[in-house]
Amino acid sequence: MIRRALRLSTGIPWTAIASAAQLPRLTRSYAGDALAATKASFNEQEDQPSPKVEHDLSLRRRAQPKKRGQNQKNHNEPWHPIVHTPKPNPNATKKFAFIPKRPEGSGVRLELTGPNVDGNEICRTIPAIWLRDSCQCKQCVHPVTRQREVDTFSIPKTITIIKADVTDDEIRVLFSDGHESTFKPEALVARLLPDHEWSARQGDHDPILWGREIKEKPPMVDYDKVMASDEGVKEWTYLIKRYGFCYVDGCPVSPEATQELLERISFIRHTHYGGFWDFTADMASNDTAYTNLGLDAHTDTTYFTDPARLQMFHLLSHEGGEGGASLLVDGFKVAMDLHKRNNAYYEVLSRYKSYGHASGNNGNSIFPLEPQPAFTHHGRQLVQIRWNNYDRDGLQPPVESWPHWYMGAKKWNHLLKSPVNEYWEQLKPGRPLIFDNWRVLHGRSAFTGQRRLCGGYINGDDFLARYRSLNFPNNGLMHWQM
Ligand SMILES: [Zn+2]
Repeated sequence: MIRRALRLSTGIPWTAIASAAQLPRLTRSYAGDALAATKASFNEQEDQPSPKVEHDLSLRRRAQPKKRGQNQKNHNEPWHPIVHTPKPNPNATKKFAFIPKRPEGSGVRLELTGPNVDGNEICRTIPAIWLRDSCQCKQCVHPVTRQREVDTFSIPKTITIIKADVTDDEIRVLFSDGHESTFKPEALVARLLPDHEWSARQGDHDPILWGREIKEKPPMVDYDKVMASDEGVKEWTYLIKRYGFCYVDGCPVSPEATQELLERISFIRHTHYGGFWDFTADMASNDTAYTNLGLDAHTDTTYFTDPARLQMFHLLSHEGGEGGASLLVDGFKVAMDLHKRNNAYYEVLSRYKSYGHASGNNGNSIFPLEPQPAFTHHGRQLVQIRWNNYDRDGLQPPVESWPHWYMGAKKWNHLLKSPVNEYWEQLKPGRPLIFDNWRVLHGRSAFTGQRRLCGGYINGDDFLARYRSLNFPNNGLMHWQM
């Protein structure tokens, strides 16, 4: 009941809550240590947490709800920018056994022991009803659509396993309803390692972190290759996934060609800005402090419940002026810096939430369903950065936490603006840029003259679907699938 109430009241996945709830149980000395470390790395008096805020932080930690059934081992592991999920060790001992009769019903018992199995020994009985529901035969799963055909709700809750033959390659099971199923042992193993399953579902390539040195050799693919074959799109999406951005060299300098290029990944996401945009503005005639000003590094659409994931920029022309260099910052890399140097502030930006808003024009009033933290995690792993001080709206109560948010935000902003983290580049006609708006922050320097840019957004799920289907065998069906 507690879990359900929490989920309903917050709307965030239970896994995120589980992670969030880990921190409050950290001992007070942990909080104290982190803040002490924070203090030690600061020279500016004004950046130091006040005793009052420090006290509030430790109060907040203790005030978080307790949960039942939480894995004690993972309990004290804090959020982290990069979590290298251990893969199941192929040398770990696997033992499958058929358990014919137990008080809680029959099932297939799996014991997985050995080093590096996510640091845990696995010993679980997989329930017969789940196995029956997960049968992958042609009657139970449509062979073309891969959709479930079995009538889940006609499976008797008392279903048992009559017989099971276990070999290294397969597990053949006869159920009490007369149905026979075959399972791949490694698929069952993967299902019992939730972190591994999640990592595999996302496409388990660790990000390559970078700073300004990326300017010497930025990731780039050839336009002709991307347009000619899926092999080119495979390389392109792989580089975006690993670096968070990529150039495409040799694109015709037209909005039509740029749109066609972007649609090689997926369809374009429409927003209140339209779909594919082609923006011409005579900045020289605009003397406003708005249109040609520099922009600090930020992410876009922080006011959406599901912010746009990919964004493409193609500079078609820039005449009669100068400036307008583009800025990219690897948010995951800077988050790593913050985590190392000021872990308490990393936690502040992971925990404390704010709204974004787009309410300026055209009768728009856009807010996310829930206030959001700057750093969103899945389990321990950082998966999304939302950072746009221009579009930031109210901070979530309690008001006592607000001063601490400002201190964390100030340090984060300071690191974002560190020259070692800023990658400046003048965009060129014929070389569109695409970047991951959930990871890479973008900005630009002030400019004069007339610029014409085109581009568009792509949704996260659509990007990952294309990336997975090209970069993993069997059209993205991975080994963990049944
Ligand atoms: Zn079946």
